[in-house]
Amino acid sequence: MKFTAALLFTAALCVPALAADQTQIFATQASALRITPIYHATVKIQAGQDIIYLDPAKPAKMDGMGPGGLILITDIHGDHMDADYVTKLSKPGTAVIAPAAVAKTITQARVLANGETTRWHDFKITAVPMYNISHNQPTGQPFHDKGRGNGYVVNYGGKNIYFAGDTEGVPEMRALKDIDVAFIPMNLPYTMTPAEAADAVKAFHPKIAIPYHYKGQDVQAFKKALDRSGVQVRLLEWYPE
Ligand code: ZN
Repeated sequence: MKFTAALLFTAALCVPALAADQTQIFATQASALRITPIYHATVKIQAGQDIIYLDPAKPAKMDGMGPGGLILITDIHGDHMDADYVTKLSKPGTAVIAPAAVAKTITQARVLANGETTRWHDFKITAVPMYNISHNQPTGQPFHDKGRGNGYVVNYGGKNIYFAGDTEGVPEMRALKDIDVAFIPMNLPYTMTPAEAADAVKAFHPKIAIPYHYKGQDVQAFKKALDRSGVQVRLLEWYPE
């Protein structure tokens, strides 16, 4: 008996540590909404039987993840739009919602333009403009032209979850109302600094703000800038080894 117990104990020690489950679970008027950070800009959203992927793209590791019923894509850049992954994560009937620029490549996408709203199952999805104001390419051309990409507000069971996409703190973001959870990018030169991101977040005051798409940036500075603002900041690991 003792020998068996010792063996079991040793076996338990040898099990490799699983990556911490960072799934954020939010109660809603419908079923619970589960949001899992995968990598950089890639997110998995689950509610009931529904699975939605936002910007599934390499090098996010998505082997073994089941297909989604809906795939949301924000923009044409490779860290957001990945035709291989759209195929890999689709099943018959999978819907793709994306801006027109993305639909040139992902031709099965249903086009949603800035400001438009659509429904999928029990979700309401609104496209929010995402673009650069001051952080442009050396040529003066923005990294993200106004009108090309979509951030999304995903409404489910009365909760509003905002995925900003690659953007600065544009007026359309600052004017958002009743956002429960906001996923906010911060990386230069493509989007904005942690300080700029915090300033924009103060303007629309979500209940919870979660940095994403922040490679190389000091997310602690973002958190510190929102101390005593009443916005709860949650720092998650988006760049696992
Ligand atoms: Zn990006």
